Amino acid sequence: MGMVWNCDEGTTAARLPPHPNNPLGGTQGGMQRAMPPIEARSAHAHGRVLRYIMHVPQFPANAMTRPLAIFGGTFDPIHHAHLRVAWEAAEFLDAEVLLLPASVPPHREQPVATAQERAACVRVALAGQNRLILDVRELRREGPSYTIDTLVELRAEYGETRALVLLIGADAFAGLPTWHRWHELFDFAHIGVLTRPGHDGVLPTELRTKIASRRCASTAMLRESPAGRVLSIPVTPLDISASQVRALLAAGREPRWLVPDALFANPAYLQPYRD
Ligand code: ATP
Repeated sequence: MGMVWNCDEGTTAARLPPHPNNPLGGTQGGMQRAMPPIEARSAHAHGRVLRYIMHVPQFPANAMTRPLAIFGGTFDPIHHAHLRVAWEAAEFLDAEVLLLPASVPPHREQPVATAQERAACVRVALAGQNRLILDVRELRREGPSYTIDTLVELRAEYGETRALVLLIGADAFAGLPTWHRWHELFDFAHIGVLTRPGHDGVLPTELRTKIASRRCASTAMLRESPAGRVLSIPVTPLDISASQVRALLAAGREPRWLVPDALFANPAYLQPYRD
């Protein structure tokens, strides 16, 4: 898991409490660099004792032969539907899921919170489990966070044969033809389309044509090849959106139980939306 990494800490993140799984690392810039982040340490198999002490994620022995799922988003902020649908996809695919906050989302208005602030919220939201994993590679790239660039990197890291599955909500999937180099996405990953309330599944003609011969009905079929197929993944309908969470905060209300409790542990996490 070469590039799975904690976020670089910006000013707001530096005000946030230390990572609970990383008591030695803290969140200050110098220490952060001296102490390898926990996600990276876990990837380098430092042994069971270190894993126990640090409570780092431990992948199953067959992790490298199972599909790896990739869930990108603005996460402005992360909410319970993001987490729940990613979790259900992990179970459905028998896969780990990388959550990748976009630094500069290319296809929408720019986020309210900075990339570092959004990544800090994702990180704290994921504490206590090891199936959904923060990956901040897009924060390290300049310019728009194109998914195709991320998939090229992941394919180089994970090899030619591993099945990669790009998870996309049904609403975002309908807009796929507007994505940068969208035809090439299918060369690098399968696409898992997550059902989403309020989206009727209607697709533009060019997308329907593109996926007509790629649709598959089972995860077994996905495992037969590293990329190129499209699978619908039915998930619990949760009508939650980040826009709704932002609107509540902007109105001075609390989005309690729409977002993880962990985001209330420190006022700094949701402060960008209250300002
Ligand atoms: P916003 O309201 O700001 O547009 P959002 O809630 O749609 O945000 P994003 O970060 O833009 O969240 O979405 C990241 C991914 O998660 C997208 O693929 C999106 O379709 C998916 N997603 C978000 N919310 C849900 C949901 N309630 N059910 C299923 N998929 C979702």
